[in-house]
Amino acid sequence: MRPFAFSRATDVADAVQQGSLAGCSFVAGATNLADLMKYDVTRPARLIDINPLTLRGIEELQSGGLRLGALATNAQTAYHARVQKQYPILASAILSGASAQLRNVATNGGNLNQRTRCYYFYNSALPCNKREPASGCSAVGGVTRVHGILGTSSACIATHPSDMCVALAVLNASVRVTGNFGDRVIPIAEYHRLPGDTPWLDNTLQHGELVTAIDLPNESFATNYTYLKLRDRQSYAFALVSIAVVMHMEDGVIREARVALGGVAHKPWRRTEAEQTLKGQQPSTQLFETFAEELVAGAVGYGDNDFKIELARRGIVRACHQAAEGTPQSQSDKDIA
Ligand SMILES: Cc1cc2nc3c(=O)[nH]c(=O)nc-3n(C[C@H](O)[C@H](O)[C@H](O)COP(=O)(O)OP(=O)(O)OC[C@H]3O[C@@H](n4cnc5c(N)ncnc54)[C@H](O)[C@@H]3O)c2cc1C
Ligand code: SF4
Repeated sequence: MRPFAFSRATDVADAVQQGSLAGCSFVAGATNLADLMKYDVTRPARLIDINPLTLRGIEELQSGGLRLGALATNAQTAYHARVQKQYPILASAILSGASAQLRNVATNGGNLNQRTRCYYFYNSALPCNKREPASGCSAVGGVTRVHGILGTSSACIATHPSDMCVALAVLNASVRVTGNFGDRVIPIAEYHRLPGDTPWLDNTLQHGELVTAIDLPNESFATNYTYLKLRDRQSYAFALVSIAVVMHMEDGVIREARVALGGVAHKPWRRTEAEQTLKGQQPSTQLFETFAEELVAGAVGYGDNDFKIELARRGIVRACHQAAEGTPQSQSDKDIA
C-alpha cells in the first residue's frame, strides 16, 4: 500500500472542507476502501476519517418517513425496529450481503459508494477505463461472469455490487448530500449512473460532497415484498442477479408494483414504465413473464454472462410471485423457496 496522510474530521463542515481538497478521500468503515488501496486501485493522498461525525442516527422524519444516517452501520439499519416493520425489504437486502462482521462495520454511506467488483478493475496490471480513463476495457472479450447485461457501454460493462441500493431503488429513497456549494437531495434513481463514455464516474456525487443521510418515504411494504438474491454461493457472495419487488395489493389485485434488479447494470435497474404492465392486474405467471421481458428488453450478454439474461427473466417471475403471495425470500436460513 502506498503511503498516505490521515486526518479526522471534527464536524460536517470540516469534513466537506477537507474532503474537497485534491487527492482527499472520505473513509467510513474502510471495508471497501482499504481493499482498493491495498490493490493499488485507488491512491488517495489523504484519508479524511468521518467516523467522529454525528451521522449515526436513525430517526423518524416529520413526514413519518425514516432518515438513515450515513454512518449508521448496515447491521444497525437492518435490525432497526422501524426498518424491519415498515421496510423489511431493506433489512432483507442488507442481510443477504457480506457477512455479519462486515455489516457491523460497513456504513450506509459507504455501501452507496462501494465500487464495482469487476476482476479487471482490481488488477492494476491490466487496462481498465474505470480505474485509468481511456486505457481500455479488459472485460470486453475477457472473463465476464459477473458483468452487466443492461445499460452497458463499449467503455465499461461493470455492475454496481450493492444489495442495499437495489432495495433503496424500489423504496424511492433519496440521498442527502452536502458540499462546498450547499446541500442537495438526490433521488436514488439519479444517484448512480450508467457508464457511457465516462465509466470512472460511478455516481453523481461531486468531489468533496459528503453523503449525510438516506431518506425513506413514509410508506409501508410489510407483506408484499421480496429480495431474491441469486449467486454462486448462498453466503458471502455478490449477486449474479438480484430482484427487489414491493407491491401494494388490494383484493388480490396489484395496485402498484416496483421492481429493481441488481447485478446486471452499473446501477440498480428499474423501468417505471414497464411496471405499469402489472398495475391493476391479478398475479399470474403469464403476467410476470410479460413484465420480465419488458424489464430485461435490450439485454446483451458478453459470453460468460449470457446466462444472466435468462436467470433475470426467471428470477423476476419467481420474485413477483413471492411478493404477490406475501412469501418473501428468507435471508436468515438462506432457503431458496
Ligand atoms: C468480503 C466482502 C464481501 C462483501 N459482500 C457484499 C455483498 O454481498 N453485498 C453488498 O452489497 N456489499 C458487499 N460488500 C461490500 C460492503 O457492503 C461495502 O464494503 C461496505 O458497505 C462499504 O461501507 P464502508 O463504510 O466500509 O465504506 P468505506 O470502505 O469506508 O468507503 C467506501 C467508499 O465510500 C466513500 N464514502 C464512505 N462514506 C461516505 C460518505 N458518507 N459520503 C461520501 N462518500 C463516502 C469512501 O470515500 C469510499 O470511496 C462486501 C465487502 C467485502 C469486503
Ligand atoms: S468493465 Fe469497467 S471496471 Fe471492468 S475492466 Fe472494463 S472498464 Fe474496467
